[in-house]
Amino acid sequence: MPSLKDLLGKIDIVDIISSYIELKRVGNSYTARCPFHPDDTPSFYVSPSKGIFKCFGCGVGGDAIKFVSLYENIDYWEAVEKLAKRYGISIKLRRKEKDSKLLVALQKVAEFYHEQLKESKQAIDYLQSRGINSKSIGKFTLGFAGNTEKLIKLLSEEGLLEVYEKSGNITKIEEGVYRDLFKNRLVIPVRDIKGDVIAFGGRSLDGSQPKYINSPESEIFKKRSNLFGLYESKEYIKEGEEVIVVEGYFDLISLWQEGIRNCTAPLGTALTEDHAFMLSKLAKRVILLYDGDKAGRKAVRSSVPHLLKAGMQVRVVYLPEGEDPDSFVKKDPQALKSLIKTSQEVEVYLLQRVKEGDKEAFEDLLYFCGFIPDGVKRYELLKELSKATSLPITSLQERMVKVEKKE
Ligand SMILES: [Zn+2]
Repeated sequence: MPSLKDLLGKIDIVDIISSYIELKRVGNSYTARCPFHPDDTPSFYVSPSKGIFKCFGCGVGGDAIKFVSLYENIDYWEAVEKLAKRYGISIKLRRKEKDSKLLVALQKVAEFYHEQLKESKQAIDYLQSRGINSKSIGKFTLGFAGNTEKLIKLLSEEGLLEVYEKSGNITKIEEGVYRDLFKNRLVIPVRDIKGDVIAFGGRSLDGSQPKYINSPESEIFKKRSNLFGLYESKEYIKEGEEVIVVEGYFDLISLWQEGIRNCTAPLGTALTEDHAFMLSKLAKRVILLYDGDKAGRKAVRSSVPHLLKAGMQVRVVYLPEGEDPDSFVKKDPQALKSLIKTSQEVEVYLLQRVKEGDKEAFEDLLYFCGFIPDGVKRYELLKELSKATSLPITSLQERMVKVEKKE
């Protein structure tokens, strides 16, 4: 049976990419307008000798398989399958079989935790105190990690114990005795965009620290490329071409309950380049709805560049100091909805603040400017900024480059 390496040896990257977009030969390489960001100059390069592509505009790059998976919005292994078919190779993907067994195990565990929830008064009381109703509990398959022995028995009966151990969610202490990472925690299953459970988040109920833990990273779970709630929300996101990013599990669930369903949340990390790319495939506009505190503002500053680079329109909702989306939506859902509806593009908002003499807004705006891929739009904004500050455009441009390089 041929291996992945055999397939990689057969792939002609120019052949593959030119079946999707038009390539122009320049010397030893090929160029094109980048299909992954609005590109008015060809910034996309393909090197046949190295077998890779690279965009100098948005930074995306990789081999032919990566290109196909990005372009078709499918995962790496689906792209491998597709290319193997194209080259008439029947490839054996041992890794995929192993992954799918782990997915079965994770699904079983999610169902088990969900069942266990009924038996934990503490967990039910906690959910009630947060105003989470039974419909949401069912929708997000919330659970409780109670009886570890029973869980281990179930997994070993199904022949899934060994594969589940690889997820890092349980640790073997001695023969037949395991420690459950989520023991006595409220458990929130994390699904990938196709709906498979790939990890868990756990909230402590007895005051023990840390308050939240997540599954360790694994072959199937990477924080930098997965977002919570995307499976549940994706149809709502596509429908309105708009996605709201919140910080936590319960922000998302509370908003869902109030009918705000186009939300997603990163998993204990800042929004990454991969996240931004995924979101740009689903929506044109992103609204950042972070906590109204210093950390929330910092998260805005680190998220906006990735989103701008991905060609998205970015809006920010600034909540009152000390509020988070969860607390705010409970107090006044109408007020939150209208804040979302009337939110401004981050450039427009910051420019207004600059005009009012806000120094921090000036720094932020100039910083964000460097990430706007559309040269015309970037120049227009610099012109406005120059008007607002009476600084010449050239000096703004110089500063902008410096700011950008700092990152
Ligand atoms: Zn690009």
